[in-house]
Amino acid sequence: MGSANRADFVIIGAGIAGASAAYWLAPHGKVVILERETHAGYHSTGRSAALYMASYGNEQVRALTLASKPFFDAPPHGFSEHPLLSLRGALMVAERGQELVLEQHWAVLEQMKTGARRLTPAQACELSPALRSERIVDALIEPDAADMDVNAIHQGYLRGLVAQGGELRMNSEVVDLVRHDDRWIVTTKGNEIWQAPIVIDAAGAWADEVAHLAGATRVGLQPCRRSALLFAPEGFDDFSKWPMTYGASENWYFKPDAGQVLVSPANADPVAPQDVQPEELDIAIAIDRIESVTHFKIRRPSHTWAGLRSFVEDHGLVGGFDEIQPGFFWIAAQGGYGIQTSPAMGEACAALVRGMPIPSAIADWGLTKEMLSASRLG
Ligand SMILES: Cc1cc2nc3c(=O)[nH]c(=O)nc-3n(C[C@H](O)[C@H](O)[C@H](O)COP(=O)(O)OP(=O)(O)OC[C@H]3O[C@@H](n4cnc5c(N)ncnc54)[C@H](O)[C@@H]3O)c2cc1C
Repeated sequence: MGSANRADFVIIGAGIAGASAAYWLAPHGKVVILERETHAGYHSTGRSAALYMASYGNEQVRALTLASKPFFDAPPHGFSEHPLLSLRGALMVAERGQELVLEQHWAVLEQMKTGARRLTPAQACELSPALRSERIVDALIEPDAADMDVNAIHQGYLRGLVAQGGELRMNSEVVDLVRHDDRWIVTTKGNEIWQAPIVIDAAGAWADEVAHLAGATRVGLQPCRRSALLFAPEGFDDFSKWPMTYGASENWYFKPDAGQVLVSPANADPVAPQDVQPEELDIAIAIDRIESVTHFKIRRPSHTWAGLRSFVEDHGLVGGFDEIQPGFFWIAAQGGYGIQTSPAMGEACAALVRGMPIPSAIADWGLTKEMLSASRLG
């Protein structure tokens, strides 16, 4: 057994959840992130569709997303050389039978005062010319939806951690967690040992497994596979400015991505935590759905992949101390919103970990400690 290293906060997982919390905790003590993989964005964080959409998710998620916008718009000097957001717009289209879903989403948007507009089918097809106009009966646009530079955001957090004296340790899978007196003894697969009064579980799809190691009660996390593909469309010259276009029933979407088009069947297939790969059927379904609502012909995808979106029952994020295990803090259930919520979630959790209230700039969006806590799940 090696000798113990000491930290104030040990964070398990270097995805966007762990990285953002580390960034805001680093000024307040010695922070160490232990990450199993050799690359910090290997799992969900590196596999997202990179869209910021304020209306996505439930009330808690929307509040976190809105509270994150000021950081994305004006990150601190030196955080990134590139803008973190670039306007894209999100176009929702309804086919026959989906009109009510679109109406319900419109009601949410009206309440949020996002600047969203209703569109005729013809206007929708003008904005997203691959659409088959005969299939569309209603549409709306959320103009301030934006592409996120996920790598710049993630690396900005991790660079900030290191610049403030924190450490990021790769190839460091946590295999044992024991509470001894007032501290956690954290052991990695390589037999490295860390001691800290507080351990933060930001293990993504594995957050329940890590909690189990610590003797904490699982929050009931369900990882769900979402698959995607990229292809080079033929017959469309300049599609780079098209909005992200999605079916009202959230059963397909496409968006321009680095000179190609990203397509997803918007699946959410429950699976065990794993290095998930796309099923052939997911890709076939994606192609079938997209070809039926658009004029795209997808002959051969240039790339296919899948990632895990992990949810608890109410599809909100979880951030707070475990009710039973002292010094065990959850940052989990980032679902399909982990990147777009990361500034507010990271900052709020960094405050709660230190026993501080949620900063007012975030709380002003209606967020409370109780809304983030796992105890709401019953
Ligand atoms: C196809 C797809 C599209 C998406 N689109 C969007 C989008 O447009 N906008 C958006 O905001 N979000 C989107 N998401 C969701 C977003 O990607 C996730 O919410 C987010 O990346 C989750 O971050 P995380 O840090 O919780 O998990 P991860 O990135 O998976 O990080 C968790 C880390 O913990 C590590 N780990 C686990 N167990 C251990 C252990 N025992 N010891 C050490 N390390 C461990 C893992 O190796 C992993 O690196 C999408 C996701 C998918 C799959």
